[in-house]
Amino acid sequence: MVGGGIAGLTAAYMLSLEGLRVAVVEAMRVIMDVTGFTTGKLTTQHGQVYGLISERYGLDKAQLYADANQAALARIISIIEDNSIDCDFQRTDSWLFTEESAGLETIHGEVELALKLGLPASYSETTPMPFTKGAMRFEGQAQFHPRKYLMFLADQVVARGGSVLENTRALDIAEKEPGAVLKTSHGDITAGSVIIATNTPFYQSSLYAPRFSPTRSYVLGVKLEQQVPEGMHYCIDDHAASIRNQPLPGTDERLLMVGCWDKSLDISETEAQYEKVEAYARERLPLASVDYHWFTQDQKTPDRIPWIGRVKDSRHIYVATGFGGWGMTTSGVAGMLLTDMIAGRDTPYAALYDPSRAIQQ
Ligand SMILES: Cc1cc2nc3c(=O)[nH]c(=O)nc-3n(C[C@H](O)[C@H](O)[C@H](O)COP(=O)(O)OP(=O)(O)OC[C@H]3O[C@@H](n4cnc5c(N)ncnc54)[C@H](O)[C@@H]3O)c2cc1C
Repeated sequence: MVGGGIAGLTAAYMLSLEGLRVAVVEAMRVIMDVTGFTTGKLTTQHGQVYGLISERYGLDKAQLYADANQAALARIISIIEDNSIDCDFQRTDSWLFTEESAGLETIHGEVELALKLGLPASYSETTPMPFTKGAMRFEGQAQFHPRKYLMFLADQVVARGGSVLENTRALDIAEKEPGAVLKTSHGDITAGSVIIATNTPFYQSSLYAPRFSPTRSYVLGVKLEQQVPEGMHYCIDDHAASIRNQPLPGTDERLLMVGCWDKSLDISETEAQYEKVEAYARERLPLASVDYHWFTQDQKTPDRIPWIGRVKDSRHIYVATGFGGWGMTTSGVAGMLLTDMIAGRDTPYAALYDPSRAIQQ
């Protein structure tokens, strides 16, 4: 396994449960890259993704996407509950909202589609946030602390005979029947299969990198002069605000995370982007203080469906990338799908996520 973020550690854990010995090779420390800066919404409500998929590929593909993510959500929740993982897990609703009258038609369309797909959706005129015009509500979703959850999975990989090799960079992969050889900064590793879970793939990168559209999100951790509203919130309007609360360790207080997505990756604009997010939050909520800020980015594929599966012209090399800002349940999809593929089991989701789609995109 190359990559110690949520994709790599989830797949490593699921493969360990199959009885395989897994080595996780991580260039830095685990959970210190994109996953270390996520907002950790554990939801199958992925913005307007169902509308986009059904428009482009039809209802059947949107159904597969919904089923895969519903199954992943259930699996992650059962991992947390069955193992009593202490990771700030809380069931809560997820809201896709608009602040503009013009956005209501889109929201109604998404609700109608989500209901056709059997998703737990309903329309609501109000939300726990006071400034919304209307929203789609998904019940039975959850929030958690991904780092606390993933440290448990990493420990389990080691407890089951595997290893987590930090500060070890993967450099190249060569297929050598009956498996593959991973070349790393600390020597070669021979394995039956290699999974590339490095967010941006380092292998066959010229196939994926030019097709990605990276989007960065600038996030603030703020305290309010009032009780912090419940729920996880995501806005379909231009600023694409993403909001949710997080308990502050050792206190009864809750922090509110408020983030806005932006296409700009220009580092010189960072301060201006934080100011924009703060202005957005101050216009809508009574801020008491701005305590934290951070940014990170994720990769989107052209059709918004991640690339998960066997890489082009290969028998033993797999990839999981292009999560488009929704890597929490998608990592569960990747773990389940890749485990099935490596174990030689049929899976209904392989064609939907097939990375060879990248060539045509
Ligand atoms: C601000 C923000 C908020 C988000 N909020 C949510 C949310 O609320 N809900 C949700 O579902 N999704 C969310 N996402 C998306 C989600 O966080 C990501 O999709 C997910 O964390 C990506 O995980 P990953 O394992 O692919 O990548 P990473 O966490 O980046 O892991 C990849 C790892 O690979 C390592 N690596 C790279 N190259 C090599 C190499 N050559 N050799 C060895 N190791 C290597 C890196 O060091 C890194 O540790 C958010 C994204 C952003 C940007």
